[in-house]
Amino acid sequence: MSGTYLGMPSFPEAARGAVNNPTLRANLRHATHTIRAKRAVAVEELADWGLLREAGKQIKDRTLRYLDTYLVELENKVTAAGGVVHWAADAQEANRIVVDLVAATGEREVVKVKSMATQEIGLNEALEAAGIAAFETDLAELIVQLGEDRPSHILVPAIHRNRGEIREIFARTMSEWGRPAPEDLSDAPAELAEAARLHLREKFLRAKVGISGANFMVAETGTLVVLESEGNGRMCLTLPEMLISVVGIEKIVPSWRDLEVFLQTLPRSSTAERMNPYTSTWTGTTSEDGPQVFHLVLLDNGRTATLADEVGRQALRCIRCSACLNVCPVYERAGGHAYGSVYPGPIGAILSPQLRGTQSDIDASLPYASSLCGACYDVCPVAIDIPEVLVHLRERVADQGGKGHRLEKAAMTAAGWILNHPAALATGERLASKTRTLHPKNPPGAGAWTQARDLPELPGEPFRDWWKKNRT
Ligand code: SF4
Repeated sequence: MSGTYLGMPSFPEAARGAVNNPTLRANLRHATHTIRAKRAVAVEELADWGLLREAGKQIKDRTLRYLDTYLVELENKVTAAGGVVHWAADAQEANRIVVDLVAATGEREVVKVKSMATQEIGLNEALEAAGIAAFETDLAELIVQLGEDRPSHILVPAIHRNRGEIREIFARTMSEWGRPAPEDLSDAPAELAEAARLHLREKFLRAKVGISGANFMVAETGTLVVLESEGNGRMCLTLPEMLISVVGIEKIVPSWRDLEVFLQTLPRSSTAERMNPYTSTWTGTTSEDGPQVFHLVLLDNGRTATLADEVGRQALRCIRCSACLNVCPVYERAGGHAYGSVYPGPIGAILSPQLRGTQSDIDASLPYASSLCGACYDVCPVAIDIPEVLVHLRERVADQGGKGHRLEKAAMTAAGWILNHPAALATGERLASKTRTLHPKNPPGAGAWTQARDLPELPGEPFRDWWKKNRT
């Protein structure tokens, strides 16, 4: 994944700043509560929501089971329609393909539709290293880029910013990138949106290369689909001469009939809309209409390894609606940056450690970034059992060792032995009762546990002795 996140500390450490920042917490609380309330109303409207959810789950599961077949079908259809398909095993390969394609045109700048896959691989940084400027055109992504920030939410990447902060970023930085913000810019949403629109318009009209992701790819016709609210995506997809789409291999659906299910569940789950304002679809190239050169980069980058895990593979069903973030009590307090990945919140906690492995501090800590309350599972439109995957990944992290886990393992081994030897257990209990006044309040190694909890006091008499006296 992106080098931007390399060397991130563990989740608790990374979250400390956010948890102690009242402005950030207020921004997050306000935004997540507003979106979640609207989503609940939008979902309630559909009497067959449960059936749609189950259909989405089953379509995704079946597609993942025959992923190789559908991907080859897609490749054939895209090629027949005039597109070129590239296969990228990892981030490095995907970046190399895109950089080479753009460099071959001689262009030094590209416009981008919001795309999580390109953020995952750190494409902007790779383009910059090759002397190519990438301009984000989604309003929230623009705010993140101008503020030299990182996205903190799947749907609203600048959710951690309030209107005043956005006004300040626009006023300070727009002139460095192109058309400056108006001098009398206020923090009224309409004025901010207009400033962004004017700033971006000149880039749309100038750019010869557009880069996108896709929400879905339809195998039966080789069609890519982008859902968005602002219209910037439509501009990126239609105005440039060359379009390069970088898409994770799990984004495929077999047919338009299958797509129909997600076109109902995704808008309601994400923006709480009955239908998203812009649905753009394109199949290869069309003479004298839209980009005349189309490249599709199919990205693996850990997805095949994730698919091999029977429990963890359900994370690949995700349609990136962000509903799980908006109900998560941990995300609400910690914010998105602490997850150390372009995928924050509950889905990030199960996806990033699978795509990247659990070796780094941040990835080994992510499966623990949850209270396991299950709210994420309840709202997920493709019924990903996130708590189940979290527990499964915790097991994987524990198995690989590490300081805390070694201690836990040693304690469990000792407990196993003593529970198998009743006489030793009885002696131990009596000894523990007799010496209870000498026990430390914070036993070594249990600091994280006792910091917020009282260690229960041992009774003066073991239960077995009490039972003998009172019940026999
Ligand atoms: S895990 Fe489910 S709820 Fe969360 S973003 Fe993905 S599809 Fe949406």
